[in-house]
Amino acid sequence: MTRYIFITGGVVSSLGKGLASAALGALLQARGYRVRLCKLDPYLNVDPGTMSPFQHGEVFVTDDGAETDLDLGHYERFTGVPARRHDNTTTGQIYTDVLSKERRGSYLGATIQVIPHITNEIKDFIGEKEGSADFVLCEIGGTVGDIESLPFLEAIRQFGNEVGAERALFIHVTWLPYIPAAGELKTKPTQHSVKELMSAGIRPQILLCRADRDIGEDERRKIALFCNIDEKKVIPALDVSSIYEVPLTYHAEGLDHQVMESFGIRDIANLDLSIWEGIVQRIKEPEGEVRIAIVGKYTNLADSYKSLNEALIHGGIANNVKVSFVFIEAEIFESEDPAPHLENVHGILVPGGFGERGAEGKIKAIQFARERKIPYFGICFGLQMAVLEAARNLCGIKNAVSSEFEGEGEHIVGLMTEWEIEGGGKEQRGEDADLGGTMRLGAYPSVLAEGSKAAEIYGATEISERHRHRYEVNINYRDQLEKDGGLVMSGLSPDGRLPEVIERTDHPWFIGVQYHPELKSKPFDPHPLFVSFIKAALEQSRLV
Ligand code: GLN
Repeated sequence: MTRYIFITGGVVSSLGKGLASAALGALLQARGYRVRLCKLDPYLNVDPGTMSPFQHGEVFVTDDGAETDLDLGHYERFTGVPARRHDNTTTGQIYTDVLSKERRGSYLGATIQVIPHITNEIKDFIGEKEGSADFVLCEIGGTVGDIESLPFLEAIRQFGNEVGAERALFIHVTWLPYIPAAGELKTKPTQHSVKELMSAGIRPQILLCRADRDIGEDERRKIALFCNIDEKKVIPALDVSSIYEVPLTYHAEGLDHQVMESFGIRDIANLDLSIWEGIVQRIKEPEGEVRIAIVGKYTNLADSYKSLNEALIHGGIANNVKVSFVFIEAEIFESEDPAPHLENVHGILVPGGFGERGAEGKIKAIQFARERKIPYFGICFGLQMAVLEAARNLCGIKNAVSSEFEGEGEHIVGLMTEWEIEGGGKEQRGEDADLGGTMRLGAYPSVLAEGSKAAEIYGATEISERHRHRYEVNINYRDQLEKDGGLVMSGLSPDGRLPEVIERTDHPWFIGVQYHPELKSKPFDPHPLFVSFIKAALEQSRLV
C-alpha cells in the first residue's frame, strides 16, 4: 500500500521545502521503506529548461532526459533514487496536456474547467506513482496563498479525501521570524498561513517550523493551540551549517516518529543513521582545505550551480578536506590578467554554460590552468572551451570558435544536427528547432580508451552519464587536436562520432567532459571524477 505525504510551504519562499522533503525521504529509507519523491511546480513554463538559471537556479536533468526543477537534485542526493521525467510537473505542462486532449476531442464535448479537468490531470500525475513506493512524498512548489498554487491545493485536498486519512498526510513548512525589538520569535505569520491552508480545505497534521534560533516551549504551545495541531507535531527545523545535517536534526526533533504516528504505523524500526553521521563528521572535522575556482557566468546565484557545488563538496568528503569555492565572473578575464585571481587556487573548473558572454574569459582561465599545471576540470561548455583554447593557442587555428557564438570563425565546435539514440535510432534537429526540450538530453553511453586517465578514474571503459547540450566538438579535428594540441579524446560516443571526454597527458590533471557528472554525485556515493579532481587539488595545495 502506498502512502502519500504532501509538503506545502507558507509565509515566504526559499524555506527549503525541497531539502525538507529530501531529508524526510532519507529518514523513511533509513526505516527500511521504499520512497519516491515528486514535485508540482505552479509556474507556467512547461519545464524549467528555458528558464534562466539566474532566476530559478540550475536545471536538473534526469536519466530519461527531462529538464526538471533543482529540488529533484536534492531528492536524488539524499535518497539515491534516480529521478524520472514523471517526478516533476508544472502548471504549464498540466495545461499543455489538458489542452491537447481537448484538441483531440478526448473530453467528448465537455466544457473544460480548472475543476475538474486541471485538478484531475494533477491527481493523475500523483496517482500514477501508486505502487512504486511505500511512501510517495509530493512537494508543492510556491507558497500557500499564491493564486498559482490554488489548483494544486485543491487537487491534493481531493486526493487526500479519495485515498483516506490513513494514507495521506499533510506537512506544512513555515517560518518563525525573529523580531529583535521584541526579542522573540513570532508565530502570527504561521497562524495565518495555516488558516490559509485550512480555507483551501487542508488541515496540516505536522508543522515544520524554520527558525534561526531555538523555539521555546511557549511558542510551540501557542502554535499548537492556534493552529489546532498536536504540540509534538510542531517540529522545530533550525538552520544548520551543512545541509547533510538535516536528516539527523529532523530525526532528533522527532519528525519521522511523528510521521509514523500520524499514519498509525507501529514501527519500532531501529533506524541506522550512521551513513549521515559519518558524512557530517567528515564535513565538520576536515583535515585540510582546497580552494577551487569556478569560472562561470551565473556566479552570483549559488543555486545556479547547485549540483556542481554539492558534487565538489562530496569530493571533499571523500578526501576528508573542506572545499572552498572561489566564484569568478568569467568576463573579468577579458580585461584583467587571470594570474592574481587564479594563482592561489588549487583547482580551476569551468562549468556548463550557454552563449558567448564570458566565453573568452573562460578560455583565458583554461590557458592559465594548462600552462601553470593547475588541475583543470571542464564540464560541458568547459570541455568545449578547452578545445577552443588548444585549437587557438597550440594548433594555430587562431579563429577557432563555436557556432553558438555570433560572428565569423572556424567552427571547431558546431551545432549537433543528428545523434544516435538508445536502440539504434537517430535523433535529428534543424537549425530552427524550438529551444525548449530539444537538446541532447539525458543518459547516453560513452566508451573510454583503455589506459586513459578517465578509464583509470572510473575503473571502467563503458560509462553512462547525463547530458544537456546542443553543440559538439567536430570529430574531424581529432588528429590535429591530439597531435598539435596534446588533447587526447579519451572518451567517445559508441559510434565514435562524438567526443565525450578529453584529457592531457602533459598535465597533472586536465579533464573535460561533454556530460554533467555532478548530477549523479551523492554524499554517500561521490562521483569518481570529483573525488579524483579534489585529490589532485589537494596535491596541488601541497605545492603552493
Ligand atoms: N552551450 C553548450 C551546448 O549547448 C554547452 C551546454 C552546457 O554546458 N550544458 O552545447
